[in-house]
Amino acid sequence: MKPAYPARLSLAQLPTPLQPLDRFSALLGGPRIWLKRDDLTGSLCTGNKVRKLEFIFAHALAEAYDSVISCGGLQSNHCRATAVLAAQLGLRCVLVLRGEQPAEADGNLLLARLAGADIRYIPVQDYQQQLPALLEHERKRLAKAGSKALVIPTGGSDGLGVWGYIAAAGELQQDFRRLGIAPRHIVHASGSGGTQAGLMLGAWLHGLDAGIVGINVCDDYDYFAAKIRQDIDDWQQRYGAAVDWQQLSFSLIDGYVGEGYGQAGQPVLQCIAELARTEGVILDPVYSGKAFSGLCQEIRNGRFAGESDLVFIHTGGIYGLYAFRDSIQAVL
Ligand SMILES: *Cc1c(COP(=O)(O)O)cnc(C)c1O
Repeated sequence: MKPAYPARLSLAQLPTPLQPLDRFSALLGGPRIWLKRDDLTGSLCTGNKVRKLEFIFAHALAEAYDSVISCGGLQSNHCRATAVLAAQLGLRCVLVLRGEQPAEADGNLLLARLAGADIRYIPVQDYQQQLPALLEHERKRLAKAGSKALVIPTGGSDGLGVWGYIAAAGELQQDFRRLGIAPRHIVHASGSGGTQAGLMLGAWLHGLDAGIVGINVCDDYDYFAAKIRQDIDDWQQRYGAAVDWQQLSFSLIDGYVGEGYGQAGQPVLQCIAELARTEGVILDPVYSGKAFSGLCQEIRNGRFAGESDLVFIHTGGIYGLYAFRDSIQAVL
């Protein structure tokens, strides 16, 4: 059974453009790469998280939550978007962040603070071992003060957040019809799995005939296979849906994590610089740039040979760039 869309707020600038990277694609010599500009969902609300948060905040308002609590790294795009949208909607925002408070707040962290988020800095090891308890602690603390707080999971990835990219799959289908193209693959960075789970469900629900290909920027194949399954199971349970697993396309290219999450090597930084000067589009080192650099390598290796059009989703992340100012300058 295919469920109906739940309530949604209009927070992102949609539809986002789908534009061809003609010069860059010619240099690379593979299919024409179309960039889905989800970095243009907003200026402060740039990136893929805003699509998920349209459904998450609609749920929060409908259920009379007055606060949200979320979590992530110090440069979390998701946390910055959550803080900004909470301020726009008049909700309180508490962020549980992984790491010590830096001497100078930069990029996403600076913006989250500016938007008034109440921030808890948690040493890395404690964060890794106790995240659920830390979130629950904050929820109880707010409850004692008379506040009802919704806990939003890492990256907004769960059965509710996946609606953002279920809807995005429908938007892509409209784009393809309007432009008269039929790309066989839609490629994107996978971090917490919600974008990929949403696109997989959305392609199935909308009858979009394209393979969904994640390139992971952390963890590994098994982690994502399990995490995506968990988000889809959560979605089925919440909405009484029954997924036909045979019809879902799951594909993950594992091999471009490099030194680890949040670490970008020379090939990633050079690829970001090359795209920026060839097309005037800027990717980030943690997600979109790491995945795009992986995609370019795969194209050079012939993975998408013979395909005429291919889509890469620019999932945003521009503010994360500022934390890499030294290493980026070194490749210019
Ligand atoms: C969070 C994020 C991703 C990954 O999306 P998930 O749904 O967490 O897999 C990709 N790109 C950017 C810029 C992000 O902030």
